[in-house]
Amino acid sequence: MKAAPFEYLRPSSVAEAVAALGPGSAVLAGGQSLVPLLNLRARRPALVVDVSWLPLAGVERTATALVLGALTRLRAAETSPVVRLAAPLLAEALTHVANVSVRNRGTVGGSVAHADPAAELPAVLLAADAVFTAHGPAGTRTIDARDFFLGPHRTALAADELLTAIRVPLLPSTARHGMAELSRRPDDLALAAVFTSLVSADGVVTDARVAVAGAAPTPIRAHAAERLLRGAVPTPDVLEAAAEAAAAETDPVDDVHAPAAYRRDMTAVLTRRALRQAVTE
Ligand SMILES: Cc1cc2nc3c(=O)[nH]c(=O)nc-3n(C[C@H](O)[C@H](O)[C@H](O)COP(=O)(O)OP(=O)(O)OC[C@H]3O[C@@H](n4cnc5c(N)ncnc54)[C@H](O)[C@@H]3O)c2cc1C
Repeated sequence: MKAAPFEYLRPSSVAEAVAALGPGSAVLAGGQSLVPLLNLRARRPALVVDVSWLPLAGVERTATALVLGALTRLRAAETSPVVRLAAPLLAEALTHVANVSVRNRGTVGGSVAHADPAAELPAVLLAADAVFTAHGPAGTRTIDARDFFLGPHRTALAADELLTAIRVPLLPSTARHGMAELSRRPDDLALAAVFTSLVSADGVVTDARVAVAGAAPTPIRAHAAERLLRGAVPTPDVLEAAAEAAAAETDPVDDVHAPAAYRRDMTAVLTRRALRQAVTE
């Protein structure tokens, strides 16, 4: 099938892009999700605003954060030595997104704005307490990751806002990370995936992040699991309890890919694996 007819605009600035955006328009970045949706006529925008030419790509490390331009290609972020050093869990998660061809075109901002509940990037950025910068007609605002993902393919971005940057606060260099993902094929979206970062002092966990993809209408933070970990020595019993707590916090759907109960059970298994990796790495 071919896309329904639409007008096409290639703006030369963020301001021009934002001025053109609104209900009935669609932002085109890498096109890896939007173009299939257009061709399936699952989306029928009157106007496609092609922002892929705007200078919004790049990776920068400041004293407190890693900052990614929204149009940074997934592959560029994945292979960036700066990203690997500053945010190793993000770099690891990127290797699980689709395949190299898709990552060569797809952008970090596109993955976030697409907000697939099973996508790796939204979940790992939720674990990182990332902050998103959006430009709209009224200017610039920032949105915390915890307030950004509202439902499947639904975000806090307004129809006339463009996501321009992603700020990932740096964790201490002593942080240890783990991730575990289950998918039918290596390139597929996750049936469930877990991302975790632990900071410890004298063998006691002082900060714990556990985020889950694929097991709720949005990526989620497993807050009960994090509470069990904080202040604890991460023994196998503690990790087991945290894994069970994470599974209990999920709200999975039954769909053609897997029953809800399976996704919930797998969340416990994956959380245990990710935590073990973080503890033993
Ligand atoms: C074969 C295949 C396998 C895939 N497997 C995975 C996978 O395993 N994991 C995974 O996470 N994803 C997967 N995907 C999805 C894909 O990787 C991402 O959704 C995609 O890269 C999104 O980035 P993009 O730049 O291509 O966005 P586009 O397709 O251009 O846009 C996606 C959506 O985001 C909006 N948008 C894009 N940029 C902005 C912006 N700056 N501001 C506001 N809105 C914006 C668009 O309007 C659109 O609604 C797969 C895709 C394919 C084709």
